[in-house]
Amino acid sequence: MRLSKYFLPVLKETPKEAEIVSHRLMLRAAMLKQEASGLYAWLPLGYRVLRKVQNIIEQEQDRAGAIELLMPTLQPADLWRESGRYDAYGKEMLRVTDRHERDMLYGPTNEEMITSIFRSNVKSYKDLPLNLYHIQWKFRDEIRPRFGTMRSREFLMKDAYSFDLDKEASVKSYHRMFVAYLRTYYRMGLTAIPMQAETGPIGGDLSHEFIVLADTGESGVFCDKALLDQPIPPKDVDFDGDLTSYVNDWTQMYAATEDMIDMDKFQADVPEERRIEARGIEVGQVFYFGTKYSEPMGATVADANGQDVPVHMGSYGIGLTRLVPAIIEASHDDDGIIWPVSVAPFELALINLKTGDESCVAQCDTLYKQLENAGIEVLYDDRDVGAGGKFATADLIGLPYQMIVGPRGLKNNEVEIKNRKTGERTNVSLEQAVDFLLERIVPERRQDV
Ligand code: ATP
Ligand code: MG
Repeated sequence: MRLSKYFLPVLKETPKEAEIVSHRLMLRAAMLKQEASGLYAWLPLGYRVLRKVQNIIEQEQDRAGAIELLMPTLQPADLWRESGRYDAYGKEMLRVTDRHERDMLYGPTNEEMITSIFRSNVKSYKDLPLNLYHIQWKFRDEIRPRFGTMRSREFLMKDAYSFDLDKEASVKSYHRMFVAYLRTYYRMGLTAIPMQAETGPIGGDLSHEFIVLADTGESGVFCDKALLDQPIPPKDVDFDGDLTSYVNDWTQMYAATEDMIDMDKFQADVPEERRIEARGIEVGQVFYFGTKYSEPMGATVADANGQDVPVHMGSYGIGLTRLVPAIIEASHDDDGIIWPVSVAPFELALINLKTGDESCVAQCDTLYKQLENAGIEVLYDDRDVGAGGKFATADLIGLPYQMIVGPRGLKNNEVEIKNRKTGERTNVSLEQAVDFLLERIVPERRQDV
C-alpha cells in the first residue's frame, strides 16, 4: 500500500478525552473514530488489525473443532422470555420494537438463539459433541463506556457454544476451548492468564477468565509469577485426546481475580517472591453452565437408551475489539504502538527519505515490488513530506520493521532496517534486504507455533 493513496489521518495532538494509553494511541494512529458514547468506527488501519485478530481466533477455534456460523445481531424477545432472561437482563439490554410492534433486542450474547438452533436440528446423542461459534457485534448499554473500545457499548465478540450429553463430556469441550484460548492469545503476542472466575448472571459452576496483565486493567488480580513462563500447547496438540494435563499445568498455580481471591490460600500457595498483585484486562471467558438453558428451552437429545435428556452446555467468549487495545497496553513506548508481527496492520514501513530524488524513488519502487512479491505486507511512505514526519508516523503506527532508503545509503548499495521494538538498526545490502526481513518476519508471524 502506498501511503500517498491510503487513508491514514493521524493526529498530532493527543486527544484530551482519552484516559489510557491504548485509547490515545488508537485515536492518534487513526485506527478509530468515536461516533457516539461507546460507539466507534474502525478506520482502515485499525480494521486491518481487527481482521488479523479475527483470523487467528478463527484458525484456533477451527483447529479445536468448533464450527463457525453467523447469527443476526437482532433477536426476538420471545426467545429470551423462554429462558427467563428478558426481564432479568435489565438496562444493559437495548430493546427495540419493529413496525409490527414486536419486541426485539440487540443481542448482548447468544445463548438463547444458539439453543433454539440446536433444538430444532439435533435430536440424538450421536451428533454430539458439537461446538458452534460466531463472530458478531454485540450491544450492551454499559453504564460507563470508557477507554475507547476497551469497554464500549457495541463490540465484536467471538462466542462459541458447546453441546454435550453429560457433564464429563462437557468438561472435555471446556478443555478444548481452554487450550485453544492459550494458543490464540499467544499467537497475538500476549500472555493471558486463566483465572478462576465467578460465573455471574450467565450462571454455572466452572469458569475461567483470561486476563492480560496491565496497569490500566479494570480487574485486580492475584497470581503466581511462574504462570508467566508456562509453555503453550503446541500447534499439533491432539484436540481429540485428553487435554487435562495442559489445563492442569495452567490451573494448579494460584490465579484469581479480586472477586474470587482467597488471600490465605494465595499466601499459603505462592512463595512471597513469586506473588503478583496487579491489574488486568479480561480478554475472554470460558463457562460451563450445564442445563441452565437446555432445560427451560427444551433442548434435549435421545441418549443411548432412547431417553430424552437436556444437553449440557458451555459458552466461550473472546472480546475482539477489546483485544486490540489490550495488545497496545502490553506493547508500546513513548513514540507509539509496537505491534507484534502476527497482528500488525502492515509488517513493514518502507520509508523513502528523499521523494525528490529520482534514483531514490526508482530504488524504493523496485524494493516495494520485491517486498510485496515476497509476501511481506508493506506500507510504502512515498509522501512528499520530510524525513522527521515519516519517522514519527512509522513509530506512532508501530509497524514492526522499517526499511529506510536514502541517497547516502544507496551510494553504498545499502538500506537501513530498523526493528521498532528493540530499536536495533542494521545496514543491509540491497540484494540481501528482502531475505533479511523474511528471516525475521516469517517466524514472528507465529503461524507455525
Ligand atoms: P466485563 O466483566 O468486562 O464487563 P463480561 O464478563 O461481562 O465483561 P463476557 O460476557 O464474559 O463479558 O463477554 C466475553 C468477552 O467480551 C469478555 O471477556 C470481554 O473480552 C468482551 N467484552 C465484554 N464486554 C465488553 C465491552 N463492553 N466492551 C468490549 N469488550 C467487552
Ligand atoms: Mg466475562
